[in-house]
Amino acid sequence: MERTQVPLGQPTAARMYDEALGGKDHYAIDREANSRLYAAIGEERVRSTAMENRRFLGRAVEYLARECGVRQFLDVGSGLPTVRNTHQIAKEADPASRVVYVDIDPIVAVHGRALLADDNTRIVTADMRRPETILDDPELNKLLDFNEPVAVLFVAVFHFVTDQDDPARIVGAFRERQAPGSYVTISHLCADGMSEAEQQGWYAGFSGATVPMVLRTEPEIQRLFEGYDLVEPGLVRPWRWRPAEDGSPRTDSLLGGVARLG
Ligand code: SAM
Repeated sequence: MERTQVPLGQPTAARMYDEALGGKDHYAIDREANSRLYAAIGEERVRSTAMENRRFLGRAVEYLARECGVRQFLDVGSGLPTVRNTHQIAKEADPASRVVYVDIDPIVAVHGRALLADDNTRIVTADMRRPETILDDPELNKLLDFNEPVAVLFVAVFHFVTDQDDPARIVGAFRERQAPGSYVTISHLCADGMSEAEQQGWYAGFSGATVPMVLRTEPEIQRLFEGYDLVEPGLVRPWRWRPAEDGSPRTDSLLGGVARLG
């Protein structure tokens, strides 16, 4: 697909997530896919899961920027710009923070460019299943220095990557470039804790989408952190991860964690 061609004939994860979060950047086809999700799982449950995930992303970036002193962020599968994006949170800690957003869906760059017109923020359209296209991207390398700590975020994205595409290999490619003191943040829809009906609902909701849905178990998600040390409280339900008064809903559909490269 052309890098700038926005897929209009199929629902996309970026636009479905935007709809679930109450955003405006989605089309009828995405709303139809979400209605299937809502019918199968319950609208409240799906919207709560999306919001719980988004709140986790915010707290993780705040922790990395304020408590760990990270000044470089690579947000892979970043989604459409919404409230409290990674660059805004990182810049609250230090206005010189550098952030690169990566998403497979070209709509992210189309909607993001105007919003993110800032020398220290870039958006790259790329597919994380080919990590070298991200890691060797010239725009990215102008901004991020892998000799210094970089926090790589894979928030709510690996459940769109099949086992055949080998998620552990993808994380490993990023880990190999990262300097000691770098971090990885991952959240993932988790089959453990979901009813059979909820699992089927997630699969049905994404059956016609541009990316596949793959629910994983806790041990499978845990394995993605191999080579890193999970920081407290480990891999947990995102609402339990350094909880704050941020209005996070509480579901048991996700797991999330932050880990450091020693
Ligand atoms: N990370 C954001 C968050 O948690 O708020 C957005 C999550 S959204 C549910 C998942 C995003 O991952 C979508 O924007 C989708 O386009 C993107 N995505 C899915 N597969 C991808 C791939 N292979 N490479 C890059 N991005 C991908």
